[in-house]
Amino acid sequence: MLETVAKGFKAARNKLKGRTEITADAVDDALRDIRVALLEADVAFDVVKRFVARVREKAVGEVVETKVKTEKGTLKVTPQDHFIKICHDELEALMGPVDTSLKTNSKRPTGVMMVGLQGSGKTTTTGKLASRFLKEGKKPLLVAADIYRPAAVEQLKVLGAQLGVPVYSEEGLKPPELCKKAQDVAFREKANVILYDTAGRLAIDEPLMEELEQIKAAVAPDNILLVCDAMIGQDAVKTASEFDRRLAIDGFILTKLDGDARGGAALSIKEITGKPIKFLGMGESLDRLEEFRPEGLASRILG
Ligand code: GDP
Repeated sequence: MLETVAKGFKAARNKLKGRTEITADAVDDALRDIRVALLEADVAFDVVKRFVARVREKAVGEVVETKVKTEKGTLKVTPQDHFIKICHDELEALMGPVDTSLKTNSKRPTGVMMVGLQGSGKTTTTGKLASRFLKEGKKPLLVAADIYRPAAVEQLKVLGAQLGVPVYSEEGLKPPELCKKAQDVAFREKANVILYDTAGRLAIDEPLMEELEQIKAAVAPDNILLVCDAMIGQDAVKTASEFDRRLAIDGFILTKLDGDARGGAALSIKEITGKPIKFLGMGESLDRLEEFRPEGLASRILG
């Protein structure tokens, strides 16, 4: 995952090897590799620019070899280590602060509206979240509001059966009505979390957005989560901005970070939209959902 970016940081680190001071030239040289790697990974141009500027500002003219006392004794910190530490902190700042919380509703079942483009992994992720709620001792209800794709309804039913979680679907209702009615179903089923699996499209279009706005108005969900495919890089950021503008989303779930994703979206999405990444999809099976930890991803990137 994120191999391109990791390679760039490795090359940068090698360029600083053996130096006793980080000069401006050395920093610029190292940052060139990082800049190229980030752009190749499809991180948004503005984000790359700002990241490189921040690291440069902190790194130039920084310490010669220093000794740092730790519990394990005195460690030598080389300029190379120091540079990487700055990169690590800035990567973390770019993606953080961590906020994987979901809002809960004390008066009625907590509503979680899942939105995203078709193929982003929305239905799978809905199942993953239901599994997570089950582990927390909650009783979820899945709502098949992607009525345009019979396969999506079927897929949700399969996931529900796998998890032993009820799935509400009904023919002949428009998605906003269906979602509204799901609240009565939740009451009957004694569910305390409702996961609305809404329809995706291949691209953002007006009818999709209007329908989602209507569902939001009908059910007043406590959380709106946008599922984004991390493989599509900068496009994911554009999608995210548009969904956020229309729906005021609460956060993101980035999927397919287990694949050979360029993964640029993970680095850009928070900085561009100001909304947090909550979870990462790390595989197709229902247990492959991780809480997002910026420090974890930063460490994976820096090796
Ligand atoms: P939807 O159209 O947005 O509901 O997308 P689906 O949930 O049907 O997922 C589309 C494809 O992506 C399916 O083949 C899923 O198994 C796959 N998928 C979803 N999440 C992940 C993930 O985190 N990692 C991987 N490798 N595949 C995923």
